[in-house]
Amino acid sequence: MSDFNFPDLKLMITGPTYIRPEIREAATMPEFGHRDSENKKRFESIFKNLKKVAQVGDDYEVVIVNGSGSNAMECSIRSMVSDTDKLLNVSIGAFGDLYGKIAKGCGKNVENLKFEAGRAIDMAVLEAKLKEYQPNVVSFTHNETSTGVENNVPAVCKLIQKYGAIALVDGVSIFGGSASGLTEGQAMTYSTACQKSLALPAGFGLLFVHKDAFAKMETVENRGYTTDILANYNTNQKYQILTTPNTTLANQMVVQLDYIVNVEGVENRFARHIKMRNMVLDWAKELGEDFELFAQEGYESPTLTSVLAPKGLDLKAVKEEMRANGYLFDPGYGGLNKKRVEAGEKETFRIGHMGDITEEMLAEYLVKLKAALVK
Ligand SMILES: *Cc1c(COP(=O)(O)O)cnc(C)c1O
Repeated sequence: MSDFNFPDLKLMITGPTYIRPEIREAATMPEFGHRDSENKKRFESIFKNLKKVAQVGDDYEVVIVNGSGSNAMECSIRSMVSDTDKLLNVSIGAFGDLYGKIAKGCGKNVENLKFEAGRAIDMAVLEAKLKEYQPNVVSFTHNETSTGVENNVPAVCKLIQKYGAIALVDGVSIFGGSASGLTEGQAMTYSTACQKSLALPAGFGLLFVHKDAFAKMETVENRGYTTDILANYNTNQKYQILTTPNTTLANQMVVQLDYIVNVEGVENRFARHIKMRNMVLDWAKELGEDFELFAQEGYESPTLTSVLAPKGLDLKAVKEEMRANGYLFDPGYGGLNKKRVEAGEKETFRIGHMGDITEEMLAEYLVKLKAALVK
């Protein structure tokens, strides 16, 4: 063992998140050559089980790229949006803004439609914008991590398609904790990552790519190399990753996905997330009127909850008190809180209830957090 002695905090933040002991243990399995026959022993199962977690059939292909969620999102922009396309980026918060920033950084022709923090996509406003701007491609966020709001993926996709456009979805913070909505919504791409509701360390960007997306990608120029979904997909056909993957993470991922699919069960996992969400909503309501829920009613995320803190409450002090209790507390999304403080509004804090956090762990956390919040 090394001489380093880091504290073993339970991460109750919105990613990276808590990793259970079995998955820490899996990190000690042997490293392997990513072009050797050992590679397939891990990745064949990983690819197959990812489809089961997404609950998709032959309509979708799984693509694994190196990096994190943002890299998967950048792949979707570079591979699916041509220089002559009109992209509408719909944002309900900081991560919605991120998708627009990625598109702009790739030189794409992007227009942003932004909704107030804490609200879901307003379908009537989106419909009016689709009529007016007439985009070919629309990007949006499934689960806005800065505010704890979940958009209705199938409904938003269907509206986008009604106006002749295709949908690109960022599902980074919800995949593995709730249904992807892909089969119903038929998004062209759905991007996600390992370190949120799949409860793994970060290191891969994951994409679900619709079979109809492939013809479009052939026509898009300058897809890059590591950002080219087609190049990644071609290597993935051999269950290999285009550039050298993190083999430690692959060892953990094969164990974790097998557990999700064959031990816990995908539907049970989704149901557990709803139960945890409801526990936190009930807990926040019990805290009284000083602590209002931030998310629009009916759109509360199953994987994280955002709560408005009373003015004057020192969230940094709460964080340090929770650290002393063995937890990493999330004192809200920095950019959002900065703006809110400047506007004289209440700050938010977040509770991550994603991945492998259990109802028992969450119940214990909520008791301790209440004691830190209410003196
Ligand atoms: C975390 C997150 C991202 C960014 O993902 P990285 O894995 O950090 O690159 C994008 N979108 C959403 C909704 C997220 O929660």
